[in-house]
Amino acid sequence: MADSKTKTARGSALKRVNKTSGPKKTPSVDNPGRVLKRSRYTKAETRAIFQRFHADNPEPEGELDYVNAFTLLVAVVLSAQATDVGVNRATRHLFEIADTPEKMLALGEERVREEIKTIGLYRNKAKNVILLCQQLIKEHGGAVPENREALEKLPGVGRKTANVVLNIYFGHPTIAVDTHLFRLANRIGMAPGKTPLDVEKALEKVVPQEFGQHAHHWLILHGRYICKARKPECRRCVIYDLCKSPDREAADTIPEIALRTAARVARAESGPGNGP
Ligand code: SF4
Repeated sequence: MADSKTKTARGSALKRVNKTSGPKKTPSVDNPGRVLKRSRYTKAETRAIFQRFHADNPEPEGELDYVNAFTLLVAVVLSAQATDVGVNRATRHLFEIADTPEKMLALGEERVREEIKTIGLYRNKAKNVILLCQQLIKEHGGAVPENREALEKLPGVGRKTANVVLNIYFGHPTIAVDTHLFRLANRIGMAPGKTPLDVEKALEKVVPQEFGQHAHHWLILHGRYICKARKPECRRCVIYDLCKSPDREAADTIPEIALRTAARVARAESGPGNGP
């Protein structure tokens, strides 16, 4: 009896140790970790963050190459679990020979597969591109619909892809949550959420209207190049002094880039008709 009690006690202790030990995982789409209940920032603080992003990069752009709505849609479908650079390399020639659903369909699945074989999951993606072309021609006269519901019905198109197309091509203030944005929103605590959809909804509530159009680009680019998964580059961060992340690197002084960008915001605010 005493033995079994000891074993149980040891078991519980082990469970406790296992729960608290081990490397700290970086939040990702697959591993959101524990999330906050609400944003760490007031309205004014959130606005200040987006003012910095705007001052630093007034017209942010996505990094996928495209020539029209159709090629943008195909590029985004191909970019799932692949880098934008890799997708651009593969689509450069593909889009030269097929920039409409009709031309893509005429190429056929085998040729599309050959053109995109350097991209991960290319077999499945080639299949989806052909099915997507068939559906675009049959249901939308070959045009890309400006409508989330219709976009999400296309093969290989999920909410994120629909949001990217609606934002970049049609100018809707949608927010496409990729792995970088998801990590950033949770890490700095601006729009905490357990799933990409939670984060998207949380951002919709906190992003000031005037920054809605570019918000997802700023956040994606910031997560991809500055607030990186393994080690955020806080010394290169334009929002360093505004950031409330526990991961923020301690420093004696505010980085030059944050000071310079803050000064640009201040100038824009004091000048007539400047800034958004
Ligand atoms: S200060 Fe560091 S942790 Fe905060 S947003 Fe910038 S890079 Fe990320």
